Amino acid sequence: MSTKVAIVTGSNKGIGLAIVRALCKEFRGDVYLTARDIGRGQEAVTSLASDGLTAMFHQLDINDINSIIAAAAYFKDKYGGVDVLVNNAGIAFKEGDPTPFAVQAEVTLKTNFFATMDMLTHFMPLIKAGGRVVNVSSFVSSLTLNKCSATLQQRFRSEDITEEELVGLMQQFVDLAKKGELQKGGWPDTAYGTSKTGLTTLSMILARRLSKERPNDGILLNACCPGWVRTDMAGDKAPKSPEEAAITPVYLALLPPGATDPHGKFVSDKEVQPW
Ligand code: NAP
Repeated sequence: MSTKVAIVTGSNKGIGLAIVRALCKEFRGDVYLTARDIGRGQEAVTSLASDGLTAMFHQLDINDINSIIAAAAYFKDKYGGVDVLVNNAGIAFKEGDPTPFAVQAEVTLKTNFFATMDMLTHFMPLIKAGGRVVNVSSFVSSLTLNKCSATLQQRFRSEDITEEELVGLMQQFVDLAKKGELQKGGWPDTAYGTSKTGLTTLSMILARRLSKERPNDGILLNACCPGWVRTDMAGDKAPKSPEEAAITPVYLALLPPGATDPHGKFVSDKEVQPW
């Protein structure tokens, strides 16, 4: 049998690194720590090694389509595909950051939604039968959903929303942010929240597509919230450690062979959450 492989994006620090740490202990196969910066990535691999854990490394900047394409080709060539993919890489502007909101909207949606979608576009065809895909979203995705207009909420919750429609809605958010017309369009004024509403919705769309197009492959794809976590992103006042935050993503990444659910769900503390 070929060696299994698990990949975690944005895993040189924070929750991603904690996910890699847990997978190194629990996943039977090669675990890839990936990072956009080779130096930061290799430093993280070395820090794991000093704890007796072996992670492999591959450069992966999800904002760089060539980096995504190169990584996908590498995993296809070396492993014939991918068994576990955790899309963890994400960004958030700090509260009080003076960057104009229109710029924050564009930059935040670029990484958290559009670049993660590029990852999924290039990696979904590589996911092997029995594979697991985990998108690290946030509880903020559902808080933001509930602040959208009734029409937008209906679309985000609908079973028939397509990837194209979702991309159009995410682009609409960025365009309206630039014009200062978010309220008129029924959108709340949170770029991070909207990017994660998009990511959770995208996860549901892709899970439905998997069920339709690869019904016998037993692949499970879910979005999750790691909780509010002490990392560079959220600061040191958050209640959870990165190790505690890794529990739900790792649970979803290691759902046992033959499991049929959760699939296409938003999961927090190992429980399916309402959407
Ligand atoms: P973090 O400490 O800031 O780590 C973010 C990671 O993503 C870093 O490794 C960063 O790399 C990487 N990254 C950013 N842009 C990237 C890109 N274009 N390509 C590849 N990697 C990229 O944040 P965190 O708190 O661990 O967050 C991890 C995930 O959990 C994010 O998706 C976040 O939205 C989500 N989340 C966090 C919380 C929380 O309370 N912390 C709550 C809910 C959800 P660099 O070091 O190179 O910047």
